[in-house]
Amino acid sequence: MHIGDTPEEALYRQEARSWLEAHAAPRDPSGGTSDHSHNLADHIQECRNWQRVLYDHGWSGITWPAQYGGKGASAIQAAIFAEEQAHFDVATGAFAISIGMVGPTLIAHGTPEQQQKHLAPILKGEEVWCQLFSEPGAGSDLASLGTRAVRDGDDWIINGQKVWNSFAQFAEYAILLARTDVDLPKHAGITYFILDMKSPGIEVRPITQITGVQHFNETFFTDVRIPHANIIGELNAGWKGAQTTLMNERNHIGSGGNWSVDQLIDLAQRRGLSSHPHFRQGLALAHSRAETLKYMGLRMRTAMSQKRMPGPEALTLKLAYANHWRLTADLASEILGADIMLWGDDAAEDNQWGQHLLSQFAIRIGGGTDEIQRNIIAERGLGLPREPQNDKDVPWRSLSKVG
Ligand SMILES: Cc1cc2nc3c(=O)[nH]c(=O)nc-3n(C[C@H](O)[C@H](O)[C@H](O)COP(=O)(O)OP(=O)(O)OC[C@H]3O[C@@H](n4cnc5c(N)ncnc54)[C@H](O)[C@@H]3O)c2cc1C
Repeated sequence: MHIGDTPEEALYRQEARSWLEAHAAPRDPSGGTSDHSHNLADHIQECRNWQRVLYDHGWSGITWPAQYGGKGASAIQAAIFAEEQAHFDVATGAFAISIGMVGPTLIAHGTPEQQQKHLAPILKGEEVWCQLFSEPGAGSDLASLGTRAVRDGDDWIINGQKVWNSFAQFAEYAILLARTDVDLPKHAGITYFILDMKSPGIEVRPITQITGVQHFNETFFTDVRIPHANIIGELNAGWKGAQTTLMNERNHIGSGGNWSVDQLIDLAQRRGLSSHPHFRQGLALAHSRAETLKYMGLRMRTAMSQKRMPGPEALTLKLAYANHWRLTADLASEILGADIMLWGDDAAEDNQWGQHLLSQFAIRIGGGTDEIQRNIIAERGLGLPREPQNDKDVPWRSLSKVG
């Protein structure tokens, strides 16, 4: 485990920092308006543009193997670049799914044709992807999903509904889980598809969140056709590919820095509260948690660099990050008092902290809720008995409410 950078890593950091300084504007250290969500369409375009700049200069797909257009670098190097990039005012969020989840899944389970068609456009910022996994009745228990795929010649015909699909309204492609065999147990009858979002029969309805942003959507399918060649992995073995995607999702969500604590200290100072014992305790606690998170992140990335699968430590990190978000949001609320409730033109501090307060639920639910993370830590990390699962070997058809 590396506590600080090795000489090679320090060199890599310097190289990344110099390049970023030459190609991007620094982020406003007091918080500023780094939130591009005021116009999501503009934000998506900014993400595409920045991804192209990264690609053109060799900073795209840092951990992807060279044969797939990546740099073949370590997870530590990718983390170093991400840490440095966080100091700059650049937009990246729209590619979290494409680069962080779809690419690794295609590399692990995709056919050479699928890899050939999609990996380079993803790296170049030409394809935004969305994830069509969750359904109204299948979130934490994803394996109970009921969107159906029925074979028709060389195609599959999709009917059903998904929900909470981030950026689906902007996506060129989607990764989709659908049920292809209702007579198999719930984990066994699912197939993993690539879906062209321009296909007829898809309706995407944006959902307005409490923050005012339409980050995610409901997605409906009416007789949508997908070619058989778009299956990722084997028929009815979609759960295996889904595990690769979900593991990469959790790792991504858990990889945060202490970005908010310095800004919180600055806020407390500007509001004349930094000598108040209560706020000093809170800020010191937040700083300690941020440092702990940093070392937990290094531990996980070291495991990845050494080609060890990050297991329970990745799960713990995601939960700790969510807790840290809640702690800093509570602290910001106390520092700002009623001002944190102001919105629009009246908002205090560019509404950075109001957004921070309300966004905590995204982190605490997305990629597995806090409760599900604790269940997994209990079972896989602590060896406690598994939750009772009396539906594991039962055909999905007899579990389904819709038949
Ligand atoms: C910001 C954000 C982005 C998202 N993006 C996407 C996306 O792009 N694509 C996509 O497909 N999905 C996406 N999701 C959906 C996300 O995966 C689900 O919300 C999540 O898996 C939880 O499922 P659910 O909302 O159906 O809650 P439920 O599973 O219905 O859970 C409800 C409550 O019950 C608790 N609970 C459930 N089961 C247990 C249990 N066994 N033990 C203890 N407590 C339990 C949960 O912790 C929760 O508090 C996103 C969610 C968020 C917040």
